[in-house]
Amino acid sequence: MDAESFRKHGHELVDWMADYFTEVENYPVMPQVKPGDILKQLPKSAPQSAEGFDDIFKDFKDIIMPGMTHWESPNFMAYFPANKSKASVLAEMLMSTLGAQCMVWLTSPAAAELEEQMMEWLREMIGLSENFTGVIQDTASTATLSALITARERATKYQINEKGFKNERFVVYASKEIHSSIDKAVKIAGFGIEQLRKIEVDEHFALKPEVLKEQIQADIKLGLQPLAVVSAIGTTSTTAIDPIAAIGAICEQYNLWHHVDAAYAGTALVLPEMRWMAEGVESADSFVFNPHKWMFTNFDCTAYFVKDPSTLVNTFAIMPDYLKTSVDDEVKNYRDWGIPLGRRFRALKLWFVIREMGVEGIQEKIRKHIALGKWLAEQVNEHKDFELLAPVPLNTVCFRYKSASAKKLADINKEIMNSVNATGKLFFTQTSINGVFTLRLAFGNTNLEAYHVENAWNLIQEKAVEVMEKYA
Ligand SMILES: *Cc1c(COP(=O)(O)O)cnc(C)c1O
Repeated sequence: MDAESFRKHGHELVDWMADYFTEVENYPVMPQVKPGDILKQLPKSAPQSAEGFDDIFKDFKDIIMPGMTHWESPNFMAYFPANKSKASVLAEMLMSTLGAQCMVWLTSPAAAELEEQMMEWLREMIGLSENFTGVIQDTASTATLSALITARERATKYQINEKGFKNERFVVYASKEIHSSIDKAVKIAGFGIEQLRKIEVDEHFALKPEVLKEQIQADIKLGLQPLAVVSAIGTTSTTAIDPIAAIGAICEQYNLWHHVDAAYAGTALVLPEMRWMAEGVESADSFVFNPHKWMFTNFDCTAYFVKDPSTLVNTFAIMPDYLKTSVDDEVKNYRDWGIPLGRRFRALKLWFVIREMGVEGIQEKIRKHIALGKWLAEQVNEHKDFELLAPVPLNTVCFRYKSASAKKLADINKEIMNSVNATGKLFFTQTSINGVFTLRLAFGNTNLEAYHVENAWNLIQEKAVEVMEKYA
């Protein structure tokens, strides 16, 4: 493709993208396709000769688009959002145009230094002290894995990296509500999933510190080695908030690594009125949150903060001859701050997003999302046929239809959800709370307005009536 064709197609694509942003709200949120529908339209083998860009773009529109779930739609209220902003999309275009591999300072000095400064901006924005230093990672899963491996190495004076495991039996602790990425990290770090203790939670679905302490003592008695606690600010199911300060005190007492997983809810710490969630975080060893979930920065971009970067570097540093540079003593080489060697220039997205929205612009949207969560919680509370199933500290609401025989409630609620989602006007998902089938809506889309939430609530009530007529 020559420069002039690139310019022409680039303009076409940007026009298409701008239209998409304005029209996406009217698309069915979930595609109306069956398994295999897309696959059968794709050629079995790669084309031998070049194809025209117009044909490629046409197939994108005709084959791919009908099979897309629209995460960008304000009617997408499933899982957690992966929101974005137009500024982050434009930054992503520049990033891929430059195509820089930002593994060490020398491979793009501006990327390394912008990353350093962006992590300082973020640190200050969410109210972490100067005792923390940040680095960008691809996902929270990778950051949590890094935390557990670093904990392992700090505890063994970096000997497992050197010699491998001897007979260490490390134990990791987290609440029953913790994200599955912790299970995965425990497996990959070599501890064995049997050594992950899932601690009981209270009526707010937050870890019970006294049970944590008893479990640690029991494990010590058995000759095991308690290593780390992963606490959550905003669990995935109900956005429960673990008591960070109490957990931190236990970690200090037993010399355990304390990693705080705030993947989703961390963004809400931009609001001074939400900082209570992180009270005690100053004693943690590491903290992770995802600007790619709720901070208007398109996937992927994870902010990982550590108290002592030397533990990270001592764990992950590599120094093959072909990567040595003459400035290694003066700069941060982020390849040594995590698992992958190659690194994308993600700091550019943060720079664009934070400047284009301003901290106040970000705060305003987060406040709105939290207010919408509270609004729906109130509607559910006041409705005689619905009930809340978990507290709503943020913008995720867990509830169910309840006016029927207890036996059928799971089926009825599932049918309400499926029939709402089948309209294409809304997409949300379920969770299970103490074994109870739960409707769960999360409000984090960049362009979410009150009327989207009102429409969602009306639609759910309408479908509930329809489903009940069937069951009556
Ligand atoms: C989404 C989520 C994760 C995983 O995030 P990735 O960036 O996709 O790895 C971890 N913990 C919590 C609480 C989450 O909500």
